[in-house]
Amino acid sequence: MKLLLPASLAQQLVTALRRAGSREIGGVLMGEHVGENLFRIVECTVQTQGGTASRFVRQAESHTVALDRFAEQHGHDPRRFNYLGEWHSHPCHPLVPSPTDIGTMEGIVNDLWIGANFAVLLLVRLGRAGALEAAARIYLPGAPAREATLILESRMEATDDH
Ligand SMILES: [Zn+2]
Repeated sequence: MKLLLPASLAQQLVTALRRAGSREIGGVLMGEHVGENLFRIVECTVQTQGGTASRFVRQAESHTVALDRFAEQHGHDPRRFNYLGEWHSHPCHPLVPSPTDIGTMEGIVNDLWIGANFAVLLLVRLGRAGALEAAARIYLPGAPAREATLILESRMEATDDH
């Protein structure tokens, strides 16, 4: 699977990561199904509270509001615009999911109430030069996680959008 990351969103993450320093931050990803095995990360929530240097705990309620608003804005078209997954930072650790991260993602894709047939986990941090480093994996019910290819979209490319 390929994931498009618009430059504006990458910049939003860089700003949030700078502010958070060594605390983990995160949120949910909302995406657009662009083509076969191709999704664009359209929006993300940024929760800056509740994280330590090695742990991020998502507070469900505020993200639910954001997901509802996202669905509303895009005309309730869940096949095209939908929850895409989770993101959080690993300011002090490599961009590899922890056992807790894996457990959380497996819980999400196996939760019949959520009804996601897959979910992305995007891990981010700032590199030495202050640039965004990111890695994404796709979690599927009853299958091993797979690496996703992240493609940073330039501003030019992003403008062909409707
Ligand atoms: Zn983690």
